Amino acid sequence: MLDWSDTSSAPKTPTFIPIPQSSTDATGLGTIDRSGGRVSVDEKRMINCRADVNQLLPLKYKWAWEKYLAGCNNHWMPTEVSMQADMALWKSRDGLTEDERRAIKRNLGFFAASESLVANNIVLAIYRHLTNPECRQYLLRQSFEEAVHTHTFQYIVESLGLDEGELFNMYREVPSITEKAAWALKHTQHLDDPDFKTGTPETDQAFMRDLVAFYVIFEGMWFYTGFAQILSLGRRNKMVGIAEQYQYILRDESIHLNFGIDVINQIKIENPHLWTKAFQEEIRDMIRTAAELEAAYGRDTMPRGFLGLNAALCETYMHFIANRRCAQIGLAPVFVETENPFPWMSEAMDLKKEKNFFETRVIEYQNGGALNWE
Ligand code: MN
Ligand code: FE
Repeated sequence: MLDWSDTSSAPKTPTFIPIPQSSTDATGLGTIDRSGGRVSVDEKRMINCRADVNQLLPLKYKWAWEKYLAGCNNHWMPTEVSMQADMALWKSRDGLTEDERRAIKRNLGFFAASESLVANNIVLAIYRHLTNPECRQYLLRQSFEEAVHTHTFQYIVESLGLDEGELFNMYREVPSITEKAAWALKHTQHLDDPDFKTGTPETDQAFMRDLVAFYVIFEGMWFYTGFAQILSLGRRNKMVGIAEQYQYILRDESIHLNFGIDVINQIKIENPHLWTKAFQEEIRDMIRTAAELEAAYGRDTMPRGFLGLNAALCETYMHFIANRRCAQIGLAPVFVETENPFPWMSEAMDLKKEKNFFETRVIEYQNGGALNWE
């Protein structure tokens, strides 16, 4: 109990518990170590840090800093994109088929909540355990970009006069969307436990699973089929405002994905004992399961399909993407090698090249066309 009446000037026993010299403060919020000893780059680590996490310089992981700069150079806001054509088309009686409307709404509903799930995972789960300042600098930038993406769905709902309750509840009410969100949430819930700490092979692997679930699968697989659906409509001159916004989101997400892949690969280099044969098989199973969940969502969202797009094409694309993600983190493919059914997707990312594609206003970015991180 605190005793406010005590006016004695006698020195008191300190009540805080000093952090022993051997343990490094992983949060950056611990007691300041006054003992001298400056940070050398060799001491920096992705997880279970040995160096002060509050010192950005000297940089060790230049790839993380470069992605931070690239993200800043790609700054955009959803309100810069005109929604006039989309509003006219959405209100028209026969501009869109019922199947197209259903696919668009499901797609928006999936993304609307997913951007928040991704943001919450970065801020509440990843940030705490990724013990490197240049990676944290990127996470801070990524967090803002996720806010911009969530803003995009608010702007679309407002522009088109959509039912906001219907859209933002889809992740709870449409089973094929709920399945995906619930699958990913399992991994972040594990890390959100206040007692969770990396530092054992089991908990370090749990952290890796969360990185795979959100960066490789959520942002790197599920988002890509979502982009393909809307961009395919955009190529047919439908919902061109949303399609343009999705191009910007895709460009951001391609950096998020590649950051996540670099993080995973760097953790593997520093902790080879984690990347066991059994763990690799587990990750391949995660990717396979995630592709199946996406295929089920595709069948549910596009039961009949429409021009240029159907559930079978989306499933093939998912297999193509899944194998590519496996290769990027050094795993054997999980599906039979297949052609990319949407070869135009890689071009959709190069905004300068596609400048007049949708015949809408495209903002020139300092570095936008220089990205090459598919
Ligand atoms: Mn996003
Ligand atoms: Fe993202």
